[in-house]
Amino acid sequence: LMQLSVPLNFIGFVYREIRQGLTDIEQMFELLDVEPEVTDKPGARPLQVRQGAIRFEDVHFSYDPARPILKGISFEVPAGRTVAIVGPSGAGKSTISRLLYRFYDIKSGAVTIDGQDVRDVTQKSLRAAIGMVPQDTVLFNDTIAYNVRYGRIDATDQEVDKAADLAQIGEFIRALPEGFDSMVGERGLKLSGGEKQRVAIARTILKAPPILILDEATSALDTATEQEIQAALDFVSKGRTTLVIAHRLSTVVSADEIIVLKDGVIAERGRHAELLAQNGLYAAMWDRQREATAAEEQLKRMREED
Ligand code: ATP
Repeated sequence: LMQLSVPLNFIGFVYREIRQGLTDIEQMFELLDVEPEVTDKPGARPLQVRQGAIRFEDVHFSYDPARPILKGISFEVPAGRTVAIVGPSGAGKSTISRLLYRFYDIKSGAVTIDGQDVRDVTQKSLRAAIGMVPQDTVLFNDTIAYNVRYGRIDATDQEVDKAADLAQIGEFIRALPEGFDSMVGERGLKLSGGEKQRVAIARTILKAPPILILDEATSALDTATEQEIQAALDFVSKGRTTLVIAHRLSTVVSADEIIVLKDGVIAERGRHAELLAQNGLYAAMWDRQREATAAEEQLKRMREED
């Protein structure tokens, strides 16, 4: 029996390792949301990022031909600037970020970076130039150090440490019993949405891409967490061309331009104060969110008094 149990144990071990490997690959694809339909053109060249200016020119797109999602979207994110996309749920905000990353090809129009159409460059070079902080970060079933280092695998321990600090998650990690060696993910420590997002920010700080996509979490965060995340995001987006998919309007106040998307078109655009003065869709969203935040805070105070 002994003779048999060793190989069986070994098979069990190999099986678990393979399964783990598959889970990681699955998660990676989820993380990248990769659709295999997009391929490099023959002779595609690497993207040459000079300033990192993004342009959407009359972009039309649908997942399903019967249901157009974007119906002629044009905007620019000048190099180093921040543009925020807001709008009702399902308006197509995240779709815009997926098109920049070229998860899908558009039906007509163009998406360019420094004048180069994203369909003409290699996907590898395109994705190397763009850092993505997604809504829901998928962590690998590995140590937290591994998860941060994923941004740039040759980063030193010190660099990992520093990135975690800049992302406002360093202190939290060091307070864990096993620090940076703590296992996270399915089989380890479960991190909150805000903590996972800060791990993603730390990764992005290590990657240091010229272009950034921030897809904000929809979920409500408490004020302290939100402020920490905001500080981390401000740091990572400084001097980088940044597209923010905004769900919480508090983060768009300082954007260079806000684009209000509705029913596949740009309904309003401008800076925060201008849009408030227009008293349209953005102003209404702003009021609604302020009321919701006030109600939440009141509820919290009532609970604390109990
Ligand atoms: P939210 O604020 O709720 O995140 P959003 O504005 O980011 O919404 P998108 O995620 O861009 O919206 O989705 C726009 C529309 O496209 C939605 O109606 C959605 O159901 C649809 N959609 C998104 N992804 C796919 C997909 N892979 N296949 C088909 N339809 C999709």
